[in-house]
Amino acid sequence: MIRVEGLRKNFGKASNAVGAVNGVSFEVPAGSLVSLLGPSGCGKTTTLRMIAGLERPTAGRLVIDGELAFGDAENVFVPVNRRAIGMVFQSYAIWPHMTVEQNVGYPLRVVRPRLPKSEQKERVAEALDLVGLGAYAARSATALSGGQQQRVALARALVRRPKILLLDEPLSNLDAELRDRMRDEIRQLQQQLGITTVFVTHDQAEALAISDQVIVMDQGRLVESGTPEEVYRRPTSHVTARFLGLSNRLRGEVVAVGEGTVRVRLGDSTLEVATPVAVPTGSPTVVAIRPSGLRIDRRRISADSWPGTVERGIFRGDAWDYAVKLGAATVFVRSYDLDARLQPGEAVFVEARPGAAILVEDLVAD
Ligand code: ADP
Ligand code: MG
Repeated sequence: MIRVEGLRKNFGKASNAVGAVNGVSFEVPAGSLVSLLGPSGCGKTTTLRMIAGLERPTAGRLVIDGELAFGDAENVFVPVNRRAIGMVFQSYAIWPHMTVEQNVGYPLRVVRPRLPKSEQKERVAEALDLVGLGAYAARSATALSGGQQQRVALARALVRRPKILLLDEPLSNLDAELRDRMRDEIRQLQQQLGITTVFVTHDQAEALAISDQVIVMDQGRLVESGTPEEVYRRPTSHVTARFLGLSNRLRGEVVAVGEGTVRVRLGDSTLEVATPVAVPTGSPTVVAIRPSGLRIDRRRISADSWPGTVERGIFRGDAWDYAVKLGAATVFVRSYDLDARLQPGEAVFVEARPGAAILVEDLVAD
């Protein structure tokens, strides 16, 4: 449905241009939701604005619904008002002097050719029903809660029945509880309508929860892409690993090579580690593992446990994260056993959960 090929955007004059997007390529299959995930400044918004037609790319090609929307070689650029796209931005910009109905109907009043009044009214009612605001049509938009205003913005994006929906951090102005609820509502609506959607976020949990495919970006480039499970469980890049919480780094040495895994010596014990690339026996490596991929106990759990000392505990509400000194390294271990409170100075044992350790490609050369 959307094909992005080598898309670039440089801001400023050619002589001192800054590359905001440095050649990204990806596809968004019809009816699916794809997230662009990455830290602030990595080029997510610029990519989305180029798909929308709000920003003219510096180079590349963009095909939307089988039509060339931008091509530098062909010198084609379809302007924003001729692309069948609905958009919601972070600052969802509700017009305060208008009613809910007027806000949602605005895109229909400016588009040419104009639909008959009765048809416009029908479309507005349909869009409001979709977001559960059917009863609020006549209300002043400012009388609504933050979540309801966000729904108004969504209804406004859907009122022209676009084939494509672009959402740029649409939930970041909402409080945590509402954010989760709206996220699930957007996903349900997207699936119900089968609308092809690009969702921009810097929040990994949000991207994992809402997407069919996640595209990880960094410094204007695409780092990797895959299903939420793939990028979470088997990231192939250093950037993704860090961004998706694989925060513990342990240095070791490959002592045996298997199928998609290697055995790594870490201190006095060895550990089976998944690896996306072939690494020879004898290589020094760095193993990445999440705090939740480690277990902690006062007793030696197995022969492959590492002895260590608790440095401190950080209360997470549903868990404790313990900083544990293992030889020269400090690792963080998550424990959901809130009753077995460990104290600083306590001797403990730490071990990796099966399948939790990953050897990350660009760490191999580290
Ligand atoms: P993100 O949405 O991932 O936070 P952006 O796409 O907004 O990133 O920005 C990518 C880079 O491009 C940043 O370095 C930003 O400062 C720069 N940038 C974005 N818009 C403009 C602009 N209109 N003029 C100049 N630089 C810009
Ligand atoms: Mg942005």
